[in-house]
Amino acid sequence: MEKLQYKESRYNYKIKLDNERLAVYNCKTRAIFIPKENQEDIIIKLLKKPNNIKLEEEKIKDVLIKYGYLIENNRDEILEVSRKFDYGNSLNLVLFPTEECNFRCPYCFIYKYKNVTMKEEVYRSIYNFIENKLKASNRDKNFYVNIHWFGGEPMLEYKNILNFMEKIKKLEEKYSHLKLTSNMTTNGYLLTYDKFEKLVNKGIKKFQITFDGDKESHDKLRNLRNGEGTFDKIYENLLLISKKVEKEFNIDIRVNFLKKNLKSSKVLIEKFEKEFMDDMRFFIYFAPVYEVETKRSSNERIKEEIYGTKEAMKIKHKINNEIYYKRMRYRIEKNNFKKEEIKYIISNLLPMPKNVGCYAYKENSYVISSEGLVYPCESSVGQEENNIGYITEDGEMNITNKKREKEWRQLVVKNKEQLECLDCKELPICHGGCKKKILDKKISCEIDGESVKDAVTKYSKLYFEYL
Ligand code: SF4
Ligand code: SF4
Repeated sequence: MEKLQYKESRYNYKIKLDNERLAVYNCKTRAIFIPKENQEDIIIKLLKKPNNIKLEEEKIKDVLIKYGYLIENNRDEILEVSRKFDYGNSLNLVLFPTEECNFRCPYCFIYKYKNVTMKEEVYRSIYNFIENKLKASNRDKNFYVNIHWFGGEPMLEYKNILNFMEKIKKLEEKYSHLKLTSNMTTNGYLLTYDKFEKLVNKGIKKFQITFDGDKESHDKLRNLRNGEGTFDKIYENLLLISKKVEKEFNIDIRVNFLKKNLKSSKVLIEKFEKEFMDDMRFFIYFAPVYEVETKRSSNERIKEEIYGTKEAMKIKHKINNEIYYKRMRYRIEKNNFKKEEIKYIISNLLPMPKNVGCYAYKENSYVISSEGLVYPCESSVGQEENNIGYITEDGEMNITNKKREKEWRQLVVKNKEQLECLDCKELPICHGGCKKKILDKKISCEIDGESVKDAVTKYSKLYFEYL
């Protein structure tokens, strides 16, 4: 029988570390390999010429094949990465319980357009839609439903959200194959610890709260209707939640940065690290304010302050890698972890491959406005051209603009205007990025090779220190 021929994966990074050692990382399989010093030359040789090898090199070659650094000659990795993923047994719903907000951020004008709040009949349609999906699904397989509360400010509709979650949770008793998760994006102002605990009890376990830098900068950009700042109240809510709530949950603190508040955002991170470092349920990260025009917000007033997409992406990764690194180090120092556990913890630093750029590409993923209209992405709510349908009261999804839906769902591999993505080494991690930007004819790279190398270097530092 003819021997199988191999080639090197196009997604390998061969990185020279600060201590001159070699790390090989594959961003499709997320495998990382730090060979012994005396094996480095063999590895480099095998990756380059995998087919004419000596007998004693067979074992190493097998490892390289097992973790995807070497692949069979006839495999097309680009097709494998960009293949259509089956979301048939899942449902992702982003719900706008209200389009109103208690804040009056200068760059947001949602309140000037509509003060719509979700009515009883819209909740009923959504409930029926979920149950119809469950009825039609194969009960031998898990069916995953994720409900993301968005808005406007969802906490203004706290009671309705609790009621809805209570009803949906009852479906778990009726349909044992239902696996329900729920999360919320909130400004955090009304998130008192007692309300928070009730939401967690009803199954909302993941929250995202945004700060626009430290107190000084945040209070200039995110105020109440009367102009008052909001930093202190949100921060106090978070401290109380950490102190008083004993349940399992995750709060991601997103720190938005602009040119003007980059320094103050770093100050906030230091403050946060001091006070929340011991509570692993909290996680802080950096994110740029993007230049995305929506029906709800205009970046016109702060346009000069927004970093260009590429620069913002680089800053974001650099600072986030640093945050993750410090946090993991702290965690390892404080606990008596076994080697396997440490290996797992530090692997969180490595960039994560995914199936698509974002949820807007996914079938069975819908954003539902307060009025019950359906959109593919949160940033398109209110835009007539992106309203792809509605849900009837008896829970049928009526897609009225199939052509537009298809455009939103189209994968990067089918997009002739994005051929450069197919050739890109970071494709498994980025997949072409934000679909909204693609439709606006702007390519926005989510990551670059330098950021991947930085993450691997930080991983390796922890590896040498603790393993
Ligand atoms: S298209 Fe862009 S804005 Fe919309 S969900 Fe995806 S990443 Fe977010
Ligand atoms: S958007 Fe940029 S990083 Fe993402 S796949 Fe395309 S070229 Fe690569």
